[in-house]
Amino acid sequence: MKFFSSKNRPVHLGPYPLERLERSSNPLIFEESFETVQNEAENPDHQIYAQVADVYLDIIDQWQEGSVAEEMAPIKADGHDLTRQMKAACYFMDASMVGACEIPDEAWLTQNYEGKKHKNVFVILVEFYKEIEENNLAHTWIKGAQFKRASLRAAEIAITVAGYIRNLGWSAKSHSSNKTDLNHSLLTLHSGLGRLEHGKVVNPFLGTAFGTALVSCDMPIKADLSLVENHSKKERDWRFYWGKDGAFPQRERNRLNQRPSHWSRYPMETIKKVSQPTTLILEDEVPRVPKRAAFFERARKGDLGERTQTERSRFALKHPFTMGMAPMLRGLVKHQDGTITKTKTQGTENPEHNAKAIKSLSYFLNSDLTGICEAKRFAWFSHDDDGKPIEIKHPHAVVMLIDQGYETMEGASGDDWISGAQSMRGYLRGAIIAGQMAELIRRLGFSARVHSNLDSQVLHIPLILFSGLGELSRIGELVLNPFVGPRFKSIVITTNIPLEYDQPIDFGLQDMCRKCLKCARECPCQAISWGDTVMFNGYEMWKPDVERCTRYRVTNPKGSACGRCMKTCPYNHEGLLIHDLFLKMAIQFPFTRKLIADLDDKVGNGRINPVKKWWYDLEWVDGKAVKPKGVNQRELDLKKNMEPDKQPIAYYFADQMPPPLHPDPLPVDRKKAIAAKELLETPLQARKRKLEHKPTPDHYLTLSSK
Ligand code: SF4
Ligand code: SF4
Repeated sequence: MKFFSSKNRPVHLGPYPLERLERSSNPLIFEESFETVQNEAENPDHQIYAQVADVYLDIIDQWQEGSVAEEMAPIKADGHDLTRQMKAACYFMDASMVGACEIPDEAWLTQNYEGKKHKNVFVILVEFYKEIEENNLAHTWIKGAQFKRASLRAAEIAITVAGYIRNLGWSAKSHSSNKTDLNHSLLTLHSGLGRLEHGKVVNPFLGTAFGTALVSCDMPIKADLSLVENHSKKERDWRFYWGKDGAFPQRERNRLNQRPSHWSRYPMETIKKVSQPTTLILEDEVPRVPKRAAFFERARKGDLGERTQTERSRFALKHPFTMGMAPMLRGLVKHQDGTITKTKTQGTENPEHNAKAIKSLSYFLNSDLTGICEAKRFAWFSHDDDGKPIEIKHPHAVVMLIDQGYETMEGASGDDWISGAQSMRGYLRGAIIAGQMAELIRRLGFSARVHSNLDSQVLHIPLILFSGLGELSRIGELVLNPFVGPRFKSIVITTNIPLEYDQPIDFGLQDMCRKCLKCARECPCQAISWGDTVMFNGYEMWKPDVERCTRYRVTNPKGSACGRCMKTCPYNHEGLLIHDLFLKMAIQFPFTRKLIADLDDKVGNGRINPVKKWWYDLEWVDGKAVKPKGVNQRELDLKKNMEPDKQPIAYYFADQMPPPLHPDPLPVDRKKAIAAKELLETPLQARKRKLEHKPTPDHYLTLSSK
């Protein structure tokens, strides 16, 4: 928990107070030699995770280079602006620290490399994670692999940012610890991120506990000055400890480091566990649906018309930053499954020990929240994209949530040009974390498959719910977590390694969402229900108009995708002490919930904070970044009139879904779907029907199951 807000701290300054370090304008001259690779003493090559990290570094390093945009982006920016922008981009991707400098000749490791034309470099540092306890199975998996993990995380950031720079029109290349043309240690010193102490590069805040990646480029930059050798002790004073500058408080880092490694950074252990989710689910009535029925798939196939079909392939990648991630996002899909080691590793028979280790591993790799549950029958799609039946292959699901990043959300409207990047950042992080975990599980001798946003055989929502990571919210087909709210993307691994399950949770959200309605008020296309929960295909939920939401997200003319409901929800907050208190009040005292929702409006939560806006408003069109026709910059709509009876919501029950294989457009029948309101049951009616042993309604059955 934080005592001081970071609302006035621009994103390019990052989570550490680098701006307070004493710097020197004298050129760096080294009188002693130093190691060019940090932490090589770890030598962890025999450890299972170190091998997996190498595999993944090799995979992503194939995207170190790429083509440069056909034209320069229409931005009037000097080296100062551009440096701030690129640093902020790195921090958006969760770099620990970033520095910039010119590349001195002696930093080149290769003599003939054509990339030597690059004059400048960004140095990206990612800190080590805390160690995993010795009595945890994951301890041996990851032992000595901190440097590999941090280097891989840094490489993910460097590849994305190098892609962004190329998409703005400058040449750029990323360099990882495994594959580089440049001396990382030397550049860490030149960019003011380290000092030479006893032959080692030491960072003022991290010591030697970090990994690096680089982005060399011909973009103009404002170089950082190197650090003075004889520094004062002020850099780690009380301000650093308490986060007085808006930087992340060291006190909080210390506290988080004390938590058991299988617990997330958020105190989920304090939330009440329940045997069933807080919304009714008639498990035997929930139909398994084909992938063809998902609305993004329907948009792709042309069911929502030509414009939506054309925009479908690019809507979330419409910003040049997001396009920087696209090669990795697409390329990782083929690594979601793989070969299983024939012999099972000894010591992996205990479900409780395995669950603990898998969670510790997930947090070590940077998942924000992890839960485990049964991979329920109805969570599996019935048919794949090509119409083939999907076999229920695994009994268990490991579910992970990746925070989309509070700071950038704070500077955005939720549906402007950075919105798609927030989602894709979460998806990319998830794909890399889950990809490594699944690979490690397979090396232990078990089957494991990743289910990402680009290729999933399971629906994530019921799995997030059953793995105890949240409750279904008014936003509709979205589970909300008490600590990060709706601000996350999910990734799932299904597997057969023995695992103990988590339980669903109850933090009073059903009552809160009945009293709040902020997301419904702020949704730009009225897709979120203004009324109460209903039964839909076996689930109790605030049924959203998914068709309308999909159309808006895909064709949004003044931004890329949409996440305004996430942005404006009161559970999307900075994590200050006051937020913690409000959460506790909302859990303990139901009568405070309406008050808290109103107060959230009064203090202006959900508004745009211009201090946090770091990105250029640009649109990626035909291989270049252009000025977009407009930008969504929304204020809170406090006076909106919401009459539930006047809100037309389309209910596409299972019987209105397309068959598993229908390559041609099958236009939606919106009129019929709105009229299907007549078929709705309340949760009370559904319970009564079940008690009276009446049959499942016909409209809960898909065409292929009738
Ligand atoms: Fe509405 Fe946007 Fe949320 Fe969809 S994503 S429900 S359009 S606010
Ligand atoms: Fe629930 Fe309010 Fe958040 Fe909507 S904005 S999900 S109603 S708490």
